[in-house]
Amino acid sequence: MNNILPWQQKNWEQLQQQLNLQRVPHALLLHGPEGTGKGLFASIFAQRLLCTTPQEDGFSCGSCPSCKLFAAATHPDLISLKPDEGKSILAVDQVREMVREFAFTPQISARKVVILQPAESMNNSAANSLLKTLEEPPGEAVLMLISHAPARLLPTIRSRCQQRAFPSPDRTQSLQWLQQKLEQGMSEEAVLQLAEGAPLKALALANPEQIQHHQQMGEELINLLSGRADPIRVAIRWSDKKLDPSITLEWLQQWTTQIIKGDTQSPLLNSLASKLQPVDHKQLFLFYDKLTAAIALSHTPVNKELLFEGILLDWSRFR
Ligand SMILES: [Zn+2]
Repeated sequence: MNNILPWQQKNWEQLQQQLNLQRVPHALLLHGPEGTGKGLFASIFAQRLLCTTPQEDGFSCGSCPSCKLFAAATHPDLISLKPDEGKSILAVDQVREMVREFAFTPQISARKVVILQPAESMNNSAANSLLKTLEEPPGEAVLMLISHAPARLLPTIRSRCQQRAFPSPDRTQSLQWLQQKLEQGMSEEAVLQLAEGAPLKALALANPEQIQHHQQMGEELINLLSGRADPIRVAIRWSDKKLDPSITLEWLQQWTTQIIKGDTQSPLLNSLASKLQPVDHKQLFLFYDKLTAAIALSHTPVNKELLFEGILLDWSRFR
């Protein structure tokens, strides 16, 4: 089915030509900035590769048994590999298990397909377990690695894949696309800025309450670090029923990660990072782990206010 994003047309056509010539690369590395749709692209291509009655326009049919299993996320010939929830590293056992499973003949489709993302989540031993499979995939199998940071991959991984660049769409393209997707009255400019230019990320953030909450959260976190806000009061606001507690915690975790990495280009992260400068990185890692636990708890019937209070009191101690 045709859901290819407008800025990915060229990449799609190129693969389509290779498919027509029966020369699809066995190992593909799709790389480019996060939030621009590489995962979506890989998924559409995987469905096409698995579909048993593809349409003439080059897309999957959407109705064959393979497409139905694909839609239900239970396709036996598709292996999706990513780090376990809350983890940033892909365990070597996950890769080994995939390699084993991958060697079996496909059950429904003409080939097996693997989507592994993000490829930079593999440590050296995981990457090494993958090398041989990348070199000689069984049958018509296709492995797609997705990476937001290809420079962090082992050169031996990169060199065994055909690389495809997925640059960010230009601003005009992103704004046009967002305009079609957003509800009336929302500013595509504002959400695109919130998502630092990545349109899919922008869409995920795009609802007026979330945008307002996101901005307010930033201010509150800064104010807590300068003693101008009260963690208890902030916790009460954050536990407001209209806000999804896991999104709030995930945002905070995302910011913590960026601060640890020194990736602090936006004005908000910049001010947070400068206030947190005297704080030991070890403490930030501990805080990150607490957030992981809190995110898991936020899906249970836990008292949200108390959950946020704990996190915000910890945050205030960074003062
Ligand atoms: Zn199909």
